[in-house]
Amino acid sequence: MSIEKEVEKRRTFAIISHPDAGKTTLTEKLLLFGGAIQTAGAVKNNKIEKTATSDFMEIEKQRGISVATSVMAFEYGGKQINILDTPGHKDFAEDTYRTLTAVDSVILIIDCASGVEAQTERLMEVCRMRKTPVIVFINKMDREGRDPFDLLDELEQKLDIKVRPLSWPIGIGHTFKGVYNIFDKNLNLFAANKTKISEEIINVKDINDPELNEIIGDSATEVLREEMELINGVYDPFDPEEYLRGDIAPVFFGSAVNNFGVKELLEAFLRISPHPRGRDSDHGFIKPLDKNFSGFVFKIHANLDPKHRDRIAFLRIVSGKFERNTFYNHSRNVKKMKFSNPTSFMAQDKSVIDEAYPGDVIGLYDTGSFKIGDSISSGSEAINFKGIPSFSPEIFMELENRDPMKSKQLDKGIKQLTDEGVAQLFIQQPGNRKIVGTVGQLQFEVISYRLEHEYGAKCAFTPKRYYKACWMTTDNQKQLEEFIRAKTVYIAKDKDDNYVFLAETPFLLQMAQTDYPDITFHFTSDFK
Ligand code: GDP
Repeated sequence: MSIEKEVEKRRTFAIISHPDAGKTTLTEKLLLFGGAIQTAGAVKNNKIEKTATSDFMEIEKQRGISVATSVMAFEYGGKQINILDTPGHKDFAEDTYRTLTAVDSVILIIDCASGVEAQTERLMEVCRMRKTPVIVFINKMDREGRDPFDLLDELEQKLDIKVRPLSWPIGIGHTFKGVYNIFDKNLNLFAANKTKISEEIINVKDINDPELNEIIGDSATEVLREEMELINGVYDPFDPEEYLRGDIAPVFFGSAVNNFGVKELLEAFLRISPHPRGRDSDHGFIKPLDKNFSGFVFKIHANLDPKHRDRIAFLRIVSGKFERNTFYNHSRNVKKMKFSNPTSFMAQDKSVIDEAYPGDVIGLYDTGSFKIGDSISSGSEAINFKGIPSFSPEIFMELENRDPMKSKQLDKGIKQLTDEGVAQLFIQQPGNRKIVGTVGQLQFEVISYRLEHEYGAKCAFTPKRYYKACWMTTDNQKQLEEFIRAKTVYIAKDKDDNYVFLAETPFLLQMAQTDYPDITFHFTSDFK
């Protein structure tokens, strides 16, 4: 098949949600449709429960599971679908942000009773920044939830995106009768605990057809007619282009656990969602059909077997055809690299592949040559993709060495763990002081555990009261140098040697902005 056809065939996306909204359940149902799994319960919940006493074995086990479920590929309706899993636990939000750089679109799940939750807002901010097309699935319609119009308003307000329902619930909770598919003008009647894939779809050519009264009853029909009139009055007709530009999010309703509304979602998704897109690089925009192969590493999983220093780098292919045992440029190294055992992630089996195409995610065994954001490519020059952002951490601690005999191990360990993206490392002068920044507390526990068990180093963390790490840009180099001199104690360098300002409070940041007007302060490193 030509590369063009391979690209056209692929859909690479992530399902994101606040924990418990139904991500695992929906993923599993999608895999059932694809025939990738045969039974329910086959997809493990990749949730890390924080117990009173942190159970490190649990963290290790979870890391194992999350490798297995990091990418789930299956075929459906002639398309190859790649679902990239994202960790639900908020302490791993940074991991999710990076995964979002590797997808072309997103399905966002909302629990109809809880509505938009804190984590949903943050994830959506990242999608908006990147203009990622988003489809919303409002889940758990079999339970008592909020009024659908209220939910839509809340989506628009809190997520700052226009929405357009493409399906509409008939009742909710105990009165839930089914979903009217606005897109296809048909009706899907609800029966709890459906295990079969075939569903009862009734085509409704005209919503005013009296037959509808017979099917769902007079009062439900009346409500549906009124609500459809309202929807058509309030919302503009759905424009797929607007969705592809990330300006509008189509909304579907259903119940994942009952496998209800999932097929509609999947089929509409396959019809409207984008196929693999290109990415910006230091050599301009790289299109999937460019003749050279290229891809970038967005995730690294390390040391699953502590006896080996093996890591798996997850590579998203951006352009061209990847081939096994072929030499490629590495964006930071002069040396070319080839891969003898690249793996794909069809369902839950990992298998060695000979080739892969734009949109695919493959696993490369690595002994430490990769860090997140690295690219590999064919052609005469190495290229670097832009936009694997670092976000300002929320918790900062200074890393201290507890065993003077093991300082080398500690240095190496913290460097490798931060290359993997477990946390961000900022180095402060004088004295090479290491400030570790994370989104959640759990990472510090993971770091000390792994430093000790994988590198034999003992550490301690001292809290630092920073509010944000700010990356800086300016046209006035002199002012920046002056600022760096004046604020030495609050200046550090990130992994790429960029200066960051560690602001202690919002007020101090504001002061800096007023006193140094030519400097722009950014909460993410993705300001290019
Ligand atoms: P995740 O944390 O987002 O992965 O959520 P899960 O898929 O693990 O779901 C959380 C809980 O919600 C589980 O107990 C599911 O069985 C339940 N659940 C998922 N979908 C539905 C649904 O449509 N209706 C109801 N009533 N429960 C659901």
